[in-house]
Amino acid sequence: MEYRDYMVRAMGARNAAGEPQVRAFAATTRNLVEEARRIHDQSATATAALGRLLTVGVMMGDMMEEDSDRLTLQIRGSGPVRGLTVTADNQGNVKGYCVNPAADLPPKSPGHLNVGGLVGPGTLTVIRDMGLKEPYAGTVDLRSGEIAEDLAWYFASSEQVPSAVDLGVLVDTDLSVASAGGILLQMMPFAEDGIITRLEQNLSHLPHITTLLGEGDTPEQLLQQAMEGLDVEITGSKPVQYHCNCSRERVEKVLLSLGRRELEGLIAEGKDIELCCEFCGKKYSFTPEEARALLQ
Ligand SMILES: [Zn+2]
Repeated sequence: MEYRDYMVRAMGARNAAGEPQVRAFAATTRNLVEEARRIHDQSATATAALGRLLTVGVMMGDMMEEDSDRLTLQIRGSGPVRGLTVTADNQGNVKGYCVNPAADLPPKSPGHLNVGGLVGPGTLTVIRDMGLKEPYAGTVDLRSGEIAEDLAWYFASSEQVPSAVDLGVLVDTDLSVASAGGILLQMMPFAEDGIITRLEQNLSHLPHITTLLGEGDTPEQLLQQAMEGLDVEITGSKPVQYHCNCSRERVEKVLLSLGRRELEGLIAEGKDIELCCEFCGKKYSFTPEEARALLQ
């Protein structure tokens, strides 16, 4: 059977009144994490770092209501990778890049890539652009740079939503992605104390997520195991993919955002101006005449 990336959403842990106290997401993302690696030529540890952020990004994107809403996750760190950016919509499209994709560190132990070391101390910013004048943005300090822990901390401290997050990317010896996926569990405001602890315990007792996916477990099965002992109802699923929606019009805006002085300087050099999309690597070229026309 051909492998495909997809995610599921679910509700569960109903209380005595029958209200679900937890909303849950799970995803299998090997193809899209591999696509990012192929585009950016990343080191093993950078593939794991960006893959984890892409995976949680695609699940968080699903929470947004409008098709035009955009989620951006931005990590700035003092580690060798310097930073990571991921953007997602609510239709399963996600894209991202590392500032320094070639950066790498030795593993912490065999099979344990040092993602926290590669990211280093820094901040995580979550931006939700819902077409309003000011996008919603929240920033927290990184907890460990291991991504899952940082997102759980962001949800608890910045959005007051206790959450359990598990993310995994297994990189093969040839640097290709063997498996990738994630689980995101969020408490409803009225959830009873103790549910989050129970879910965290469940996650801590689970084998590593890439082991489960490698054994053929589906996102549905990941959620069943994560919510062991609690009821869980799958409410939807959809394919997820690496997709860049860049266009010449968007790149023109980037060019103009350099400012008149800077752009005039480039035009004066008399050569074609080349811009490369950070997300997909596509090149856009402007002749000095085209650039001058943009300024008018
Ligand atoms: Zn692009």
